[in-house]
Amino acid sequence: MTYKPTIGLEVHAELKTFSKMFCGCKNEPHASEVNANICPVCMAHPGTLPVPNEEAIKMVLTFGQAVGATPATYSEFDRKNYFYPDITKAYQISQYAFPFLSGGSLEGVELTRVHLEEDTARSQHDKGSESLVDFNRAGVPLMELVTEPVVHDAATAGRFAKELQLLLRTLNISDANMERGEMRVEANISVSKVEGELGTKVEVKNLNSFKSVEGAIDYEIARQIELLENGQSIQQETRGWDEVKLKTFTQRTKETAKDYRYFPDPDIPKISVEGHPEFSAPILSEKMPILPSKKRELYKNLGLTSDVLEVIISNTELDSFTLKLVESKGLSADEFKLAANYITSDIVSVLASGDRKIEDIKVKHFVELIKMLSNGEIGSRVAKDLLPDLFGSEDSPKEIATTRGLLQVSDESSLQPIIDTIISDNPEVVEQLRSGKEASVQFLVGQGMKLTKGAANPGLLKKMFLDSVK
Ligand SMILES: [Zn+2]
Repeated sequence: MTYKPTIGLEVHAELKTFSKMFCGCKNEPHASEVNANICPVCMAHPGTLPVPNEEAIKMVLTFGQAVGATPATYSEFDRKNYFYPDITKAYQISQYAFPFLSGGSLEGVELTRVHLEEDTARSQHDKGSESLVDFNRAGVPLMELVTEPVVHDAATAGRFAKELQLLLRTLNISDANMERGEMRVEANISVSKVEGELGTKVEVKNLNSFKSVEGAIDYEIARQIELLENGQSIQQETRGWDEVKLKTFTQRTKETAKDYRYFPDPDIPKISVEGHPEFSAPILSEKMPILPSKKRELYKNLGLTSDVLEVIISNTELDSFTLKLVESKGLSADEFKLAANYITSDIVSVLASGDRKIEDIKVKHFVELIKMLSNGEIGSRVAKDLLPDLFGSEDSPKEIATTRGLLQVSDESSLQPIIDTIISDNPEVVEQLRSGKEASVQFLVGQGMKLTKGAANPGLLKKMFLDSVK
């Protein structure tokens, strides 16, 4: 009998509200100046009163709509008591018995609950003999999501995390950049040989990339099985993930809910979610964007392959540009597929090479470029050439191509002098062609494209060369 791994995930996401969770400080955890966005509330001065951020609550409830979770009718904030230098109140304001959301699912993984809490300050231990604390992050709204223990392999956990990141970005509620700590994944992992019974679970923290999520889960499953096979037992504990050694390591033994002595925060009024019109489903759904699952369907129906459409929907900029393209209704089905290929290859490389933004291209200009390409006014080389010029341009691609003499020349009389020059400059190639080596014509066409800077119609050039040497 083999071991069955069981994994439950906990994910924290920093919400991108304007201000912090319980005070008016700017929500800017990565501000370059330390302790720039702080006040007596988020510094935990005695006697200060926290006020919940309505925008953060709306973000969580909107997330709930997207994953089909049940919103709470009533909710409250609790104190989670523990001492650590980055939590100077000696408690974190979190939620315990009445989270904002229950249930729902994402990427086939059922969710248990989603609640709202405050982030901690950030300790810095790399300043010689002293440790310092930066409070810019203290009090930043954190959404915590907990899944049911229904994941059984690392790949599923990785897919869930990727889909969650995409959803948070689509809803525009978190940038969810794992390397920056805006989305942090923890995995509760256990293995068991007995059907229907879970083994002792180990929590792995510090998973800062999708690769770490999958690597840590695979490592931990193997470690636990090896211990059990050697007759040893699993210690219930919190482990970290060493990204260099690719191993998990003991951090501390796991606290239980009892250790935290949760109790409702007496400083914060209880929240009637149903009694608050701003939190009602119809109001929240007014601003609901098209969700990733719907977008996949839309792009698939428009003929895009899943490789191309995943590149588009995983990038907010490309995606909103492509949606505008769809809305413009300016392209035929084949032209749209051609456009999508240019977006995911040529535009992506222009974006990668500088500080240009795709929104600087006028949609109608891009539509015109694709049309010119599809009706043969320009070739693909010219299209690639023109593309970088469309960023921030007031001139249409046709105007730019005309000014630069790049419109495809399909007029024999203007191409004839070029044909004559190439023929007289390449006597050996012409001889090969005359003696029946048809492939030689490609070299001559290449020369013609070069001389016309890609503007000539290659089909016409070929025909003219073949006619000329007869
Ligand atoms: Zn503050």
